[in-house]
Amino acid sequence: MQQVLCPQCGAPVSFASTASVMAVCGACRSTLLKDADSVRRIGEAAEILEDCSPIQLGATGVYGKKRFDVIGRIQMRFEDGFWNEWYLWFEDGSDGWLSDASGQYAVTRRRSAKTRKALPAFADIRPGLEINLDGQRFVASDVRVCRGGGAQGELPFAPGEGWQARVADFRSVDAFLTLDYSDGDTPEVYMGHGYDLSGMQAGSLRSDEQVMETAGRFRGQVQALACPQCGGPISFVAAMATQVVCPSCGSQLDCSGDTAVVIAQARKAARLKTTLALGEKARIDEAEYLLIGLMKCVDPDPEDPSDWIEYLLFNPRRGFLWLVESNEGWERVRVCDTWPGRANAASVRWQGRVYRKLYDYTSRVDAALGAFNWRVKAGDSTQITDYQAGDDKLTRELAEAELGWSASAPVQPAQLAAWFGRPELARLTPRREAGRPGSYRNWAKVAIIFMTFMNFERLLSGGFLPFLIGLALLWFPAAIADKLGGGQ
Ligand SMILES: [Zn+2]
Ligand SMILES: [Zn+2]
Repeated sequence: MQQVLCPQCGAPVSFASTASVMAVCGACRSTLLKDADSVRRIGEAAEILEDCSPIQLGATGVYGKKRFDVIGRIQMRFEDGFWNEWYLWFEDGSDGWLSDASGQYAVTRRRSAKTRKALPAFADIRPGLEINLDGQRFVASDVRVCRGGGAQGELPFAPGEGWQARVADFRSVDAFLTLDYSDGDTPEVYMGHGYDLSGMQAGSLRSDEQVMETAGRFRGQVQALACPQCGGPISFVAAMATQVVCPSCGSQLDCSGDTAVVIAQARKAARLKTTLALGEKARIDEAEYLLIGLMKCVDPDPEDPSDWIEYLLFNPRRGFLWLVESNEGWERVRVCDTWPGRANAASVRWQGRVYRKLYDYTSRVDAALGAFNWRVKAGDSTQITDYQAGDDKLTRELAEAELGWSASAPVQPAQLAAWFGRPELARLTPRREAGRPGSYRNWAKVAIIFMTFMNFERLLSGGFLPFLIGLALLWFPAAIADKLGGGQ
């Protein structure tokens, strides 16, 4: 450990890693560049936006049987959000990174790869692309151009003005691969695995209370962020993404600076009526979750339109959990930490089970309210493929810059009522809506064709009235369902 005094304010600044070239003074935020035995001030680091991560500088953990200290952090910002890269210093004098994106963690370390030169160019990588690296198959999950936001502690490089990172992440079951094209066309290779926070020393992490109290503030700033449109609190929302929807009035806000700016005023989002409301608390698996975001999604298929509501719940230690309410009932959804093996046209294998393919469809955001771990915009589209094993579902979600997998299981209304402490939820009937496979409307169409066929002779002989009455009776419930489900 090397310790120096900040030339700006005199506070002690330490360098734990010999690989570090710069450090941010914890007292005055000066960016200090390390020269042989002294340090030089080269500027001031941008402030860290306090998010919902329980990780902090000084936290310790174990990875691959080796102890590490968290000694630095950089916030990586892209158009729709940000994530943390924590710089790790291992007890054997090596370094690594702990990426912390929306409650998904992975530790990666720099590797030399034999086939590095044969890797695709950054511009050719799309989510879903398969590559082979030294005999192992990987699938591209995230492809992003981002810039460094705030920094803390020490880092092995000095991100200068306008520094941009071009990174592509890949997955293979539980293995992680990052190709970093920031320095040129031949990427640096970082490999590792998904990481569970239970591998970290519990006492060194931030408590749930600390996380909730500081979320959405800039470091050291006491003032909580307020919505410039309606004055409602938005700190918690701002901790999730730099562009958010105000939970009180539905305005779209940009929180990337130290005040929030209105991008678009509230439109129909504020009128969204849902079974569960923002700010509700639920006790799920012994942990308290807060309902922080909700959105209405639609499948715009003209033949078979449908819609459903997705609720985002959060607990600082456990991360995110989704509840989905559709005409089929309720489902609990979690992002998969490990990925399935190779999918074929009909099925995919995940954690020892075979999931059969159900259907492909599009999910489009119709309206969103509250906090999400990325910027949600009405009109965002995702290509979905559902697979099924028994009552459980596995879902592949492909968007423009990312590919992900999630797993879901049905939730009984009684369970929902117990989680939220609201007995009336146990008596809920599924949301009604128009035209899902097997819905009333489709059944009515078939019945009408059948009825016409069976009564053909009577129709020819002029018996129209009973037929018309039958027709009206059959179609009436479908028309009512349309009014209730689609009329928001
Ligand atoms: Zn200083
Ligand atoms: Zn507002």
